[in-house]
Amino acid sequence: MTLETLASERDAMTLNCAIGSIEADESQLEQLDEMTERVESGEFHTTTDVLIICACVDGRCDVHGNELLPNSAGGTESIMVADDLTHKRFAENTDGSTAAQYRSVLEFLSEMGQPRGGHTAVELHGAPSGCGANDKLPAIYDFIATHGADLRRMAAQLGVELDDATHDMLVSNAVGRTQFSDGSELLNDLKTTPDAKVAELEGAHREVIVAVNTKFGTTLDREALRAAYPDLQAFNVDAWSFVTTARLLTDDPQEASELAAAMTYYNLATACVLAGKSMRVVVVK
Ligand SMILES: [Zn+2]
Repeated sequence: MTLETLASERDAMTLNCAIGSIEADESQLEQLDEMTERVESGEFHTTTDVLIICACVDGRCDVHGNELLPNSAGGTESIMVADDLTHKRFAENTDGSTAAQYRSVLEFLSEMGQPRGGHTAVELHGAPSGCGANDKLPAIYDFIATHGADLRRMAAQLGVELDDATHDMLVSNAVGRTQFSDGSELLNDLKTTPDAKVAELEGAHREVIVAVNTKFGTTLDREALRAAYPDLQAFNVDAWSFVTTARLLTDDPQEASELAAAMTYYNLATACVLAGKSMRVVVVK
């Protein structure tokens, strides 16, 4: 299946193998079809000047006003995870912890003059950081370790074909990691990075769809979506930014494609850990 055929088959893709709980409830069903269609049309996607991953896929709005930045699970944390699932360049000269590897990524981006970002939440409800892609990293790695075939199939449906060697590397590195720093430590590392963009998201999760956005240089305008549908949200993955981000990290085309594949697996696994089985997936193109 290609991106084109996927997009032409409305509601063809749901997260059948998802294990989480975020999905449309009874009260949201009336507006679900219309909202899905409008998000898929690209109506709520708008231009961003930033071209590398810098914000999370979380559907909630920032209490301080939303910045339009490329979205990937956990924001900059996606770069650490992609590195960890591939060649572990940023783990060199560290203690091997996810927090130390994340700090290496943040330092690299600072030196390159590139933006860094992620988020917390107004109400943490006992969660370490307020970002599910961060706080649930052990479960997300476990999902990659145990659902590799599902992830490979879904990635292919989104037009990302992995060869055996790349797929095996991602899964075996997910299996191999046993240390996970607390989510609050990674959040603190981001907060203490000069000029980092740390959003503070408000309200409850109300996501009903995952938008996989392939339109280069655009991202979801969550405030516009909230104005139209106050009770519905969309997870938004700016898949085009996986490529631009990977190219920033390496000049090697093979390694860049491995990093982009790792970002794809991390984002899909995050969606499957956070969302329920009826969560819809649409491609914005
Ligand atoms: Zn998040």
